[in-house]
Amino acid sequence: MKFENTLEFAQELDKRDPLAKYRNEFVYPKVKGKEVIYFTGNSLGLQPKRSKEFVDEIMKDWAELAVEGHFYANRPWWDYHERLANPLAKVVGARPEEITVMNTLSVNLHLLMVSFYTPNPKRYKIVCEEKAFPSDQYMLQSQVRFHGFDPENAIVEVKKREGEHYWRTEDILAKIDEVGDELALVLIGGVNYYNGQVMDMKAITEAGKAVGANVGWDLAHAVGNVALELHDWNADFAAWCSYKYMNSGPGNASGVFIHERHLNRKDIPRFEGWWGTKKEERFLMKPQFEPMSNADAWQISNPPVLSLAPYLASLELFEEVGMQALIEKQKSITSYLEFVLGEIDKDVDSSFEIITPQERGCQLSVFLHGQGKVLFNYLMDHGVIVDWREPNVIRLAPAPFYCSFEEMYRFGQILKEGILNKD
Ligand SMILES: *Cc1c(COP(=O)(O)O)cnc(C)c1O
Repeated sequence: MKFENTLEFAQELDKRDPLAKYRNEFVYPKVKGKEVIYFTGNSLGLQPKRSKEFVDEIMKDWAELAVEGHFYANRPWWDYHERLANPLAKVVGARPEEITVMNTLSVNLHLLMVSFYTPNPKRYKIVCEEKAFPSDQYMLQSQVRFHGFDPENAIVEVKKREGEHYWRTEDILAKIDEVGDELALVLIGGVNYYNGQVMDMKAITEAGKAVGANVGWDLAHAVGNVALELHDWNADFAAWCSYKYMNSGPGNASGVFIHERHLNRKDIPRFEGWWGTKKEERFLMKPQFEPMSNADAWQISNPPVLSLAPYLASLELFEEVGMQALIEKQKSITSYLEFVLGEIDKDVDSSFEIITPQERGCQLSVFLHGQGKVLFNYLMDHGVIVDWREPNVIRLAPAPFYCSFEEMYRFGQILKEGILNKD
């Protein structure tokens, strides 16, 4: 489609957008009394209006039923987490039994590494991307040290090429091959948090499995954003947080995928707790752990129901809309934003550089050469919420659920004013 950088054109795109009505399902912060243009759904998604009802329900049941709520609440608490497995399975391309929801992301990746990073003196290396999200770097380093290896030697980072801002799949595959039978684990971010690149998860998983390694994915920036087929790709495990594109609320519970072939295995190490034991026997308080036959075997504690409630509310929306429609809008709105940036770039004779490659979801990371923090402050002052990384990178994520084409146009105008009025 040929885009135009005009208000009318943007409004026309909104009129044709089947997801436009979902704007109404979300609450927008305001700056100077006006709803913001929100580009940081990759960091914390907006609040779905219905999440409050779901939380209120728990508060009410707690007030009225107290301990009886575990079994007699409207949605009983003792198996509350099970309600999330079906809708989440659709979001990540999995079977419901491969999904569980618990803890938070970094904690879950550690727990999953207990099961899937079991190095020996011959096979102990981990392949990851260079400059992974800091938490992932700390996780990998501490896991490697925990097993008595040296991170310097055991962690193999795939680098970007000199002068390039993205990873080449061929370089990742070559590195996996090179490490070969020393490779214990591949653990990479499915969508890179910094440049927004979508990794070729299918090819990378295949390559890792081919050399006999386990392959896991950190899907923090991928889930609810891009197409995932975890089961068919044959990934061993994956985990994600839910407060970014999944709109579940700050610091909220993390989702976990464990491939079917690992369920019911007796030889797999795992840190266990009472919520992973067979639910029919859970309250018999037996000394012997009998694992659930699904991914819930990895559950340790009873579920954090007050956090799961807004997550479940948000999943209702995902269920209603479906990933396919979200991905279609994600593609068109991101392309429109890219176009608008290009037009403004010409108008102000600047030199924006989009470092996000074409393999992308809904995030554009942009170098605003020559523009400083002043511009960022101008944008924030004018109701545009963006993420700024020193020295001059902004990350723009037009989340398809609640961002409109008109906002992309208006953002362009504000950006232009901000640059022209800089001094
Ligand atoms: C957001 C993010 C995290 C956050 O981890 P928490 O345990 O939820 O604090 C971890 N890894 C990546 C790649 C992320 O983008």
